[in-house]
This record gives sequence, structure tokens and C-alpha cells, in this order.
Amino acid sequence: MAGRNHLYIPGPTNVPSEVLNAMHVNMEDHRSPIFPKLLTPLLQDLKKVFKTETGQAFIFPATGTAGWEIALTNTLNPGDKVLIYRFGQFSHLWAEMAKRLGFDVEIHQEVWGKGIPLDRLEARLKEDSKHEIKAVLATHNETATGVTSDIGGVRKAMNAANHPALLFVDGVSSIASLDFRMDEWGVDGAISGSQKGFMLPAGGAFLAFSQKALQATEASTYPRCFLDLRDQMNANKDGYTPYTPALPILYGLRKSLDLLLEEGMENVYARHHRLAEGTRKAIAAWGLKLCAQPGFESDTVSAVVVPEDKDARAVISTAFSKYNISLGAGLSEVAGKVFRIGHLGDMNDVSMLGAIAGVEMAMLDNGFDIKPGSGVGAAIEYYRSTAK
Ligand code: PLP
Repeated sequence: MAGRNHLYIPGPTNVPSEVLNAMHVNMEDHRSPIFPKLLTPLLQDLKKVFKTETGQAFIFPATGTAGWEIALTNTLNPGDKVLIYRFGQFSHLWAEMAKRLGFDVEIHQEVWGKGIPLDRLEARLKEDSKHEIKAVLATHNETATGVTSDIGGVRKAMNAANHPALLFVDGVSSIASLDFRMDEWGVDGAISGSQKGFMLPAGGAFLAFSQKALQATEASTYPRCFLDLRDQMNANKDGYTPYTPALPILYGLRKSLDLLLEEGMENVYARHHRLAEGTRKAIAAWGLKLCAQPGFESDTVSAVVVPEDKDARAVISTAFSKYNISLGAGLSEVAGKVFRIGHLGDMNDVSMLGAIAGVEMAMLDNGFDIKPGSGVGAAIEYYRSTAK
């Protein structure tokens, strides 16, 4: 099919051509005297995106899933109790990982479409007077349902309960796109990946840990090797890595950090909000609803619920085969019930309108009762009236 495939899944996201070009490098010696000139500023600048001055940033040649494991196995002891709210496929997978790694996982089930219930979290932590819960695992942006939780609120709940647990946050589909404030929110371990807000291919797990978490690393008896933060710290202090780095990811990250910081993180968040808001106007104009309940809507991904007599898979399939656009599928519990539109990364008003038009055509082809142009029209009006 002529023309490019348009990627509107919530990760991997579109890689800007500047980043693609920056990654097109010959391999080089990662033990050379000049390698630290690449790595050290990357670790410094990552901290600006995580919004931490007191924490330390890390880059692993891995993905977000490894980030979950790094947080758990470097700071806790085997069998420690961790608390997690589960309300979508990614919080589910993190809980399952913690179980498989031998932690005592206290899972609180929440409906898919809602996020972390702050009042119940506070009550549960107050009840835990012996401080048996060693870590709270919080999924900031549940990519499966398009739900954003209030991490500042999680910290408040923990403080209100005067609870010393570590706070680990999955920011795979939020960090570098949504407002994230590691220091202010008292996050002890922030986990992200290269292929979403950072606009890179998968292959980089980007993390930041607080001093409290780094101290816990010293005390942790959990066996670990490849994902050991201590090896990273040892090598990183001189500007090196404990094993061969994924060099193109590092060069790409240099460019993507430059782009993000040049735009300014507050502007990046505002752009994502506008893109999401226009998408939500279109969804409302189609007469459809989000999976996310009011107050939990994500600015990086919208999971759109299809009418009961429709199958979301058919929309995704038509969109791909007929219009060359890729939409996100419904995962697990919501398979066939939702399709997801990713509005994160290297996107602007017009690329977003392409997604909305493609979705609209695919829905019309599948007999959805919508008016041609209704979603596109609503989004156009919103984008025009809010463009600077
Ligand atoms: N957490 C969230 C919220 C995600 O969206 C994803 C992937 O989409 C992951 C974790 C897993 O990350 P990865 O696929 O990079 O291992």
C-alpha cells in the first residue's frame, strides 16, 4: 500500500526522524575514554524528565518489564509483602511477576476503568500497624484501560498513614508524556521504557531510584545478577556500563532528551493533554464511551468501548488492512470490547486527526451507527480553537 503505515498504538510510538538519524551510527568501543561523555550526561538529563534531583537514574538494555523486576529484586527481601492495586493488564502482570518472584503479594482488585482508590489505600496502610507491607506498587498509567492514577495522592495516603513502605511507580506509559514529579511525590522507584514517551524503539529500561531505595539495595538479600543496580552504580560512577550497552538506543536517547527538554516538559504535558482532549471530543461525538471512568482519563491512551453488538477487533482489522493504520487491541478482559488510540510521543494535531479519521472510516465500514465526519469535526473544532 502506498504511503506509510500510521502508528497509533500506545507504544511503540512513532520515532521522530531526528531520533532515527541519530541512531544510525557505527558501533564503537564502549570502554573507550570518550564513552563517558555520552553516558554521564544521559543519566543526568534523564533525571530532569523524572523530575528528581536527589535520586539516581539508570539505563538498562532491557524493557519496562525488567524495570518492574529491578525495583522488586534490588530493594526487597524474598517473601516480603507488597501491595498492589490491579485494574488492567499491566498492573495484573506486575502482580503476577511479584508472585512468581516469591513475594507475598497483597492484590486489591479494582474495576477495569478505575485507578488506585486513595481512601482505601490510606485505610489499608493505617491498618498495617506492624508495617508488614514493604512496598506499594502503583501503575501510574494503566495502558490497557487508558486510566491514570494520582501518584501525588498515593504519596499523601502513605504519609497520612505514616507508613514507611517504598513507593514504586510503573511510569512506562506516563513518564516523558504525563506530569511526573519523582521528588515531590516521594517516589522511591520510577520505572519507564524507551518505546513510549521517549519516542525510541524498545530496548531501553529507564529508571530512577531515591536514596532510600538505594540504601535498601545494600540491605536486600534477594539474589540478582544481570539486573543488579549495584553493578550499574559501580560502572556508572565512572561513566561506563557493567556490560555492553545498546549503543543506538543511547544515541537515540540523546536526541530524544534534547527534543523533550527543548520543548520543555510542561509543554510536552500540555501537548499530550490537548491531543487527548481532541480525541475525547471525537469519541463523545461518535456517542461512544471510554473504558476509563470520569476522573481517570489518560492523556496518553484512550481505550474506546464499542457497542455490545460490535467487536472491536473488526475495527482494528479494517483500520489496518484497508487504511494502513495501527490501533491498539483490547487486552485480556477487554479483548474485543475496546480498541485503543495512542496519543503519545511524536504526535501533533494533524497526525491525531489522521487517527480519528481512520478510526471513523473503519467504524463506518463495520456498521457503527455514527455520522461521517462527526468525530473528525469535533476534534477539528477543538484543535482549531485551542491552537496557539
Ligand atoms: N507497564 C505498562 C504500563 C506498559 O504499558 C507496558 C507495556 O506496554 C509495560 C509495563 C511493559 O513494558 P515492556 O513491554 O517494555 O516490557
